[in-house]
Amino acid sequence: MEPALSLRDLVKTFGSHRAVDGVSLEVAQGLIFGLIGPNGAGKTTTIRMILDIIRPDSGEVRVLGLPAGGAARDRVGYLPEERGLYRKTKVLEMLEFQGAIKGASPAAARREAAGWLDRLGLGEWKDRKVEDLSKGMQQKAQFVGAVMGKPELLILDEPFAGLDPVNQNLFKDVILDLNRAGATIVFSTHQMETAERLCREIALINRGRIVLGGPLAAVKSRFGRNSVLVEYDGDGGFLRSLPGVARVDDYGGYREVRLRDGADPQALLRALVEKVAVRRFEIVEPTLHNIFIEQVGGKPADA
Ligand code: ATP
Repeated sequence: MEPALSLRDLVKTFGSHRAVDGVSLEVAQGLIFGLIGPNGAGKTTTIRMILDIIRPDSGEVRVLGLPAGGAARDRVGYLPEERGLYRKTKVLEMLEFQGAIKGASPAAARREAAGWLDRLGLGEWKDRKVEDLSKGMQQKAQFVGAVMGKPELLILDEPFAGLDPVNQNLFKDVILDLNRAGATIVFSTHQMETAERLCREIALINRGRIVLGGPLAAVKSRFGRNSVLVEYDGDGGFLRSLPGVARVDDYGGYREVRLRDGADPQALLRALVEKVAVRRFEIVEPTLHNIFIEQVGGKPADA
């Protein structure tokens, strides 16, 4: 089976800045795939090349086995990063227009759009202008535009940004439903928890390059089970200076301690019980959040 998406050695330069610097990746059909990375890493630029909105300087894009921008266009749904493109248009008219671009009749597009708007709780807003909607509602309306027409590949640029938890859940459920019905989903995000919960595969892009990628389980096991979640009463300031400890991330209620390669978690436990009252000690795989911070080095890409 052709991959849903295949990128080979993609390069895009703006002036002297290489925004995308040799990105290659493949997304098999049926996956939920997360393109993760810090601000300015090159995610949106990569997505725009996949959609043929901008052309790469070099490299190749294939979408559903076809060159970007051609016949595959009608089979791809896209939620752009910039929202509210058609501010003066009524919601249902905007969606009718978007459906028509993909070849639906106006009546069919209206019917489908109305169904989605109802599902997302926007049914009563369909005859209002886009600009009258709140930011989150505009995002929902634009999301409808992306999912209409049963796309085989759905590309979502930061779909969860700016949404409250209820709406994040709504989007998640729709994404899972579409995926179960056969659609391949590719989305960009900096929300590591979302990526961790939803994606079967990820690529971490930093400074225009993929620095880590593959099935989420494999990515995590590559980092080993050498993180420990600890909760305790007392002063744990000494933790950072223990020889086996690589880093400590404080989450207020608990701390995630990353051990150095080969360090023994039991030695950490012994050191802890000597000095503080331990309430929780759990050996875990590192979170994607911490893998991200470790790989990106704690420095923003555009610094
Ligand atoms: P974010 O998470 O902040 O949205 P991103 O990973 O999507 O970031 P891109 O939008 O792809 O990052 O930007 C990558 C780099 O390319 C940035 O340094 C950005 O300033 C630059 N860039 C993107 N588009 C253009 C453009 N049209 N002209 C000049 N520079 C650009």
